[in-house]
Amino acid sequence: MSAAVAVEAKNVSKIFGAPGAEVRALDNVSVTIRQNEFFTLLGPSGCGKTTLLRLIAGFEMPSDGSILLEGEEVAHLPPYKRHVNTVFQSYALFPHMTVAQNIAFGLEMLGKPKAEVQQTVTAMLKLVRMEELKDRRTSQISGGQQQRVALARALAPKPKVLLLDEPLSALDLKLRKEMQIELKRMQMETGITFIFVTHDQEEALTMSDRIAVMSKGKILQIGSPAEIYEHPTVRFVADFIGETNFIEAEVTQRIANEGQIKLPSGIVISHPVAENVGVGATVTLAIRPERIDLVRPDAEAHLKGKISNVVYFGTDTTFHVEIDGTSKHVTARVQNRRGHQEVLKAGDAVGLRIAPEAMQILKD
Ligand code: ATP
Repeated sequence: MSAAVAVEAKNVSKIFGAPGAEVRALDNVSVTIRQNEFFTLLGPSGCGKTTLLRLIAGFEMPSDGSILLEGEEVAHLPPYKRHVNTVFQSYALFPHMTVAQNIAFGLEMLGKPKAEVQQTVTAMLKLVRMEELKDRRTSQISGGQQQRVALARALAPKPKVLLLDEPLSALDLKLRKEMQIELKRMQMETGITFIFVTHDQEEALTMSDRIAVMSKGKILQIGSPAEIYEHPTVRFVADFIGETNFIEAEVTQRIANEGQIKLPSGIVISHPVAENVGVGATVTLAIRPERIDLVRPDAEAHLKGKISNVVYFGTDTTFHVEIDGTSKHVTARVQNRRGHQEVLKAGDAVGLRIAPEAMQILKD
């Protein structure tokens, strides 16, 4: 991947509202988005992701900090001078125009020569696989097809960055899944940097090269889908993306970066710990349910407990296990080809074995 920078936000804050009733939509946000990257801003409603997108587009100005496009500060540039285009959730197509006319419109406004417009429209129709419907009015095509036209129209002027604000949310689940794959393909074929906003964690994991997880105006973690999923650094990220068990443990010793951490079972594991975590501190471990193996109660294990509930899901089975000596439950998910589901039942004692790299110490 190219390391060249497409967009950079440096210590950006955005405050809306009159004095006394301010809303801090963004709070000292910094992020660097590389060229040719599929980058996703992920977070719950109100976390500030649309605001960050609008600042990059130039529809809003930061209250503090700066936005740079390819290294250049753009505070003075209006949206149309930024080589950035936006696809909105409402497609905002012209219903009385044909598919091809909608795609051509922006190019004609830019005063491009007729032959070039024609050539680009043809290429865009091919890219979004809408060649056969090019002469249909956009009022006479489906929602999914309108979405493709909106994408083609936004990509036609070859922006350096395409901003997408929850563009798939109006589509039904099947179409949305199809468009997730299509969007990724379009991004790779065009080489344009995509910045995609969503509150849907699965959508973010499926499409992105990297994800920034946001909450309450801050970016909490930036990483590849696997990094974010496997190594969440804070509780919010671990909780927002996928399912997680949180287990409290005590640091009993530390030598340099390596801590000795006592699990509720009394078992002590070695694990790297952050500098500010001293002996006697309680840390929270995040463990994904599918990283827990069930073993016989007398076998060596990290935790011991009793199965309280078994839920069969077809491909896998979820076991809820009450940890011995605590009132805490842990969820373990086991693939059904391993056969546990036929043997283990509620009330059975089990051991829980966890791969050391699957225990993630959280910062908060
Ligand atoms: P959603 O997914 O619901 O669109 P979001 O993560 O995109 O949410 P933003 O739209 O960026 O969140 O909003 C962040 C915060 O800023 C919210 O509390 C919102 O109410 C507030 N906000 C956004 N725009 C304005 C505005 N123009 N005036 C006042 N407050 C605003």
